[in-house]
Amino acid sequence: MAEQHRALVTGASRGIGRAVALRLAREGYAIAGCHSTASEAARQTEADVRVHGVPCYFAECDVSDPEAVEKFVRTAEEELGTIDFLVNNAGITKDSPLVLASYEDWNAVQATNLTGTWNLCRAMAFRFMKSRRGSVVNMSSVAGVYGHAGQTAYAASKAGIIGFSKSLAKEVAAYGVRVNVVAPGFIETDMTDVLGDKLRTQALTQIPVRRFGRPEEVADLVAFLLSDSASYITGQVFQVDGGITL
Ligand code: NDP
Repeated sequence: MAEQHRALVTGASRGIGRAVALRLAREGYAIAGCHSTASEAARQTEADVRVHGVPCYFAECDVSDPEAVEKFVRTAEEELGTIDFLVNNAGITKDSPLVLASYEDWNAVQATNLTGTWNLCRAMAFRFMKSRRGSVVNMSSVAGVYGHAGQTAYAASKAGIIGFSKSLAKEVAAYGVRVNVVAPGFIETDMTDVLGDKLRTQALTQIPVRRFGRPEEVADLVAFLLSDSASYITGQVFQVDGGITL
């Protein structure tokens, strides 16, 4: 029988995180999924993961809260066994031009996107190093690579994820642990649903393939990077963006 892989996916209730959880479940991974609120979306994703017949543990966990993260990881491992794959996907935006931006919004974005990634990696890294295996994918954004007007806080958090991931990749590589980054462009999720028609049309003119991406197209790359097929790849940033940054 094939060895049971176990993956922890943050922000697994909706959008890209949901697609990642389902994609990995389809490949036979046990899934620990967290989300910030109890919702119908979270219940539905958990049920859809279970359809694949894999062990599954879904719960609320605010990734910005280190104690909540520790508790989630502990319970997930009690329920599923040792986790060896981590996808830091949970993220929020609070967009506005800097001159109108608030300190609270800046802090909220850093806390979820950047500190959340730190919290999960801090909780898992030693476990991975001790077992001499493990693979991490952290979700950035093309905004973190190139910047985006109106997204100073978000872009800073996503650029921070890149610097953090490259440094961690160097720290843990000798222990057989890999860390990579996926930087999506515009993907069809609730996050981009809030864009008005004008912004959407404007964005489409800049995307060579002339459409937004699907969450599944990001999940395919995440699954590849977690897998042994990517065993010689670490510390890299991969864009899934329909060519928007060409
Ligand atoms: P969605 O808004 O569709 O989903 C966000 C997910 O993150 C939800 O599961 C949400 O849980 C969870 N979440 C938010 N805050 C927290 C928190 N504090 N603790 C735990 N979970 C939390 O986002 P997307 O699927 O669009 O985005 C996923 C990732 O991809 C994000 O990091 C985003 O920045 C990045 N990305 C997305 C792009 C896009 O175009 N969609 C482009 C580039 C990057 P709940 O359901 O409980 O709210």
